[in-house]
Amino acid sequence: MYRRYLLKRSLLPKRSVQGTTTPFFLASNQFSSAKHSPTPSFSTLQDEIDEANDRYFGELRIEKVPFGYGLVASRDFRKGDKVMTSKAIEERPRDSHTIQTSDNTHVLIDLPSRFVNHACDPNLGVRDNDFQAYDFYALNDIHQGEDLSFDYESTEYEIEGFEKCLCGKERCRKKLGGFKKHGDIVKKLYGQHLAKYLNTHQ
Ligand SMILES: [Zn+2]
Repeated sequence: MYRRYLLKRSLLPKRSVQGTTTPFFLASNQFSSAKHSPTPSFSTLQDEIDEANDRYFGELRIEKVPFGYGLVASRDFRKGDKVMTSKAIEERPRDSHTIQTSDNTHVLIDLPSRFVNHACDPNLGVRDNDFQAYDFYALNDIHQGEDLSFDYESTEYEIEGFEKCLCGKERCRKKLGGFKKHGDIVKKLYGQHLAKYLNTHQ
């Protein structure tokens, strides 16, 4: 059983953390080739991570996990708190690292947000911001040390290849397809914490 689990996990993207999977890799069908690299203004990924961790010191932290990176709360947050802001660094065709911001727009966002993992019952929700990206809000009280996550179906219209979510949450939707597939559920779950462009979709 454990072996099978490991086998499955080995197919998962690098950003997986503790049973959480990310569609950004899977959506691009680049199961194994996706590799983290720094954005243009940094010479190494570690430099970029260090800068983000300094900026969010005492708030949250990027941590290395067995299958990549994840974000962990460095303090308690209360429901409704803005936990972090992301900025679009560049627009690019959908790939393993992008997040969707309109019907035709996929952007690479900065750290730490770029490393937030997916869960079907997450503790963060998104709202469009002025940086062509999203702010992330606490959907419930969050305790220091908790893994941070948001629901990828609240930003991605279409997700391909996400056959088996391993977020482990009770309300896990197992096979994700994006807003296109689970729009009704996602709208009900997140209300205003939804990519604005998705409101134009049924
Ligand atoms: Zn799930």
